[in-house]
Amino acid sequence: MLVVQDPYALSREVEKHSKNDEIIGLVPTMGSLHEGHLGLIKASLEQSHFTVVSIFVNPLQFNKKEDLDAYPRNLEEDLKLLEAQGVDAVFNPPESTLYKSRPKVSFDFGELDKVLEGEYRPGHFKGVGIVVSKLFNLVKPDKAFFGLKDLQQYLIIKQLTRDLSYDIEIVGVPTAREKSGLALSSRNSRLSDHGQHIASGIYKGLKHAEGLIKKGVTPPEIKESSIEFYKTISGLEIEYFEIVEDQGLSAIETFDGLESVAVCVAAYVEGIRLIDNLYLRLQG
Ligand code: AMP
Repeated sequence: MLVVQDPYALSREVEKHSKNDEIIGLVPTMGSLHEGHLGLIKASLEQSHFTVVSIFVNPLQFNKKEDLDAYPRNLEEDLKLLEAQGVDAVFNPPESTLYKSRPKVSFDFGELDKVLEGEYRPGHFKGVGIVVSKLFNLVKPDKAFFGLKDLQQYLIIKQLTRDLSYDIEIVGVPTAREKSGLALSSRNSRLSDHGQHIASGIYKGLKHAEGLIKKGVTPPEIKESSIEFYKTISGLEIEYFEIVEDQGLSAIETFDGLESVAVCVAAYVEGIRLIDNLYLRLQG
């Protein structure tokens, strides 16, 4: 397995393979890898000839310095795991190599960036857009793999790919969960056992909402009921809970005319911010 820090060395290595008509797969991550990441990596290994995994804790996408400083880092373990998976190349650039100076280019993702994570983490997706564009330019992958756990990020990357005419297929990979339903996340490692138990309530709330959707309850009533449900879980503090359409992720008042919706939630447990969602196809 190649481990590369220099961006252009990475480009040159990948080019040797794309020249031979190999399909190049890219899996961008911030490391501290878990089964959720491995799902993306397995999808890339199955669908590509040459898989590049990037590990880079991107400072531009953190709007709070404490969050960036506390983000778990685990490079040695990550490299062992990636080697065992059969990944072809890992790109783990030092910050000063990827950002020789702070980028001045800035993205405006329009409406999609004004709701949910965009509203509560101002500047987050601008930072994601910069790092993902850099990775796309350096690796020139045929396919790039993103988790549907970060549904809004997935939609924003699809929009970026369309808007900038990147010839890249964006593959969305379903959310991997603990048995308790808790969505796997690098941040979970910062939770105590009890905290993990509390955090599993996030998914229970989503399933509660799903049950009400199936019963024909309206979105505003489901939102109210779900927020009440979450209030019963001590130690869980909801930042937002929204039922949204699946294109622009704007909150809906009715299910009429919609084929699918997403229920999206952000919550704090033990001071750690966690997000999750359920993507639901509506019947008839
Ligand atoms: P991160 O390292 O948290 O930036 O995540 C890197 C990629 O892994 C992103 O595309 C995430 O959406 C994806 N990912 C993280 N957790 C999960 C999960 N539990 N299931 C599926 N994909 C995930």
